Amino acid sequence: MNSSMQLPDTWQTLLSQTLESPEALIRYLQLPDSLLEGADRASLEFAMRIPKPWLDRIEKGNPDDPLLRQVLPLSEELNDVPGFIRDPLDEINSNPVDGLIHKYNGRVLVILTSACAINCRYCFRRHFPYAENRLGPQQWQKVLDYIAADASITEVIFSGGDPLVASDARLQQLISDLEQIPHLTRLRIHSRLPVVLPQRITETLTGILKQTRFNVVIVIHSNHPQELDDGVAAAVQRLKQAGVTVFNQAVLLRGVNDHIDTLKQLSETLFDIGVLPYYLFTFDPVKGAAHFDLPDEEAKQLLGQLQDLLPGYLVPKLAREIPGRGAKTLLFTGQE
Ligand SMILES: *Cc1c(COP(=O)(O)O)cnc(C)c1O
Ligand code: SF4
Repeated sequence: MNSSMQLPDTWQTLLSQTLESPEALIRYLQLPDSLLEGADRASLEFAMRIPKPWLDRIEKGNPDDPLLRQVLPLSEELNDVPGFIRDPLDEINSNPVDGLIHKYNGRVLVILTSACAINCRYCFRRHFPYAENRLGPQQWQKVLDYIAADASITEVIFSGGDPLVASDARLQQLISDLEQIPHLTRLRIHSRLPVVLPQRITETLTGILKQTRFNVVIVIHSNHPQELDDGVAAAVQRLKQAGVTVFNQAVLLRGVNDHIDTLKQLSETLFDIGVLPYYLFTFDPVKGAAHFDLPDEEAKQLLGQLQDLLPGYLVPKLAREIPGRGAKTLLFTGQE
């Protein structure tokens, strides 16, 4: 083949070429040099990782860009703030077998991989001991045995890290193993990849999701309407054509989406591209991310305003995960 012919980048290529140097980021986006020292130090605690399709949506020269804020390591991350701890959800104590979290009735969360395509600075899993939760073949068999032995489980949720970092071949294998368990009816995938790397939604993947006997739900993760470009819209269309129900979960973050206009536009843009808002999470008090926190009172006020402006189906549920509870705790019921 003529070497001057350029094939479009595959998602694997894009995944292997994420930007990990704060210096390169600051230079490329023409940001103030004063950000560099903090970025370097904070990235030693939790690496910076930005895929190109995300980088392309950041406005150059704007240190307050809402997409930049989600990925730029800041010196504030190194502050010790009382109440902000390493494992705010106490997940380490809810693993009946490695790689599986069973806290809620009827559904289990399977941690497929530790990898993500992007490192979100506010991530509550930034300190999770993933190395102990690598899902090898033996562990996977234990996960299958656990699910098979409990007929009350009807839904499996692939989580991570980001489960769509796994290859199509691996996902196909995992799904066919799960299909052997008769009491399972639903498969849910929690992934940020349709947003940060929409190239991931390949024809092979949509083929797998179309032919499985499971009713498939994908929960994407977008916090700001500026994330939702044409590539994301096209990826969601491909999923919907495969019969997948697509929801969004977002995290309420100071300096990213803590404005009524932004939240309203997020819901409307999501719906325009075929996604329904599901959860809006208040921030988990994870160590190193206190600067994203918003008081509950402010969160509830924002939801009240949102309810005044939008149809009910575009108002996400304001929720929080409280360790030890059997469901998310809703913070705003609309009766306030
Ligand atoms: C969030 C979560 C779920 C899913 O909860 P839904 O309310 O069904 O979306 C399941 N298991 C765990 C451990 C969770 O944290
Ligand atoms: S994609 Fe999700 S799991 Fe990965 S770093 Fe971001 S918030 Fe955390």
